[in-house]
Amino acid sequence: MIIRKLYRFEAAHIVRNCSSDRCKYSLHGHSFRCELELTADRLDAGQMVYDFGLLKRHVKDFLDAFDHATLFWERESAQFRRAVERHSRRWIRMPVSPTAEQLSRVIFVGARALLAATERANGDEAARVHSVTLHETDTGCAQCFEDDADNPAMGVVDPARIAFSPAVKAEWRDPRMWDKLLSGARFKTPRPAVQIARRA
Ligand SMILES: [Zn+2]
Repeated sequence: MIIRKLYRFEAAHIVRNCSSDRCKYSLHGHSFRCELELTADRLDAGQMVYDFGLLKRHVKDFLDAFDHATLFWERESAQFRRAVERHSRRWIRMPVSPTAEQLSRVIFVGARALLAATERANGDEAARVHSVTLHETDTGCAQCFEDDADNPAMGVVDPARIAFSPAVKAEWRDPRMWDKLLSGARFKTPRPAVQIARRA
């Protein structure tokens, strides 16, 4: 079974080396929509694949980082990188170019890492990321599955090379969330308040 959660964010990027002069030479923005799909072959104690409420924590903060941010490739010129980092408060620097395809991979890798670091407390151990679909416009999107996220031929998406600006991190519930993830920390999950015994 698959469940899907929709996120929206407005972000700016430049897509280098593409055919469109507008896209490759000019910072421009999109109203992105991101569908995060989780799958499991069994249900948790609440008879869900994964409690949507739990996604309102680290995964929500991670997706919120993209909103009103300038998304740029670490291989931009030093001059470009410095200008963005100095004159735009919200930015994300990444190891791949911020195309819809690569953004879907970056989001897949980030959401997967955050879920993997989150303690499972309600029998939801089977839940995992199935895909990330990133809509850049009303008519065009990219969908990333696990094989795509881990395909080195598409570029390695190493969480340690995804950098969030201080202003982005300051708006997280825990500004050190990403640093903790990279250092191997575990995130706690609230236990369900009421437990109803299951029939044997
Ligand atoms: Zn674009």
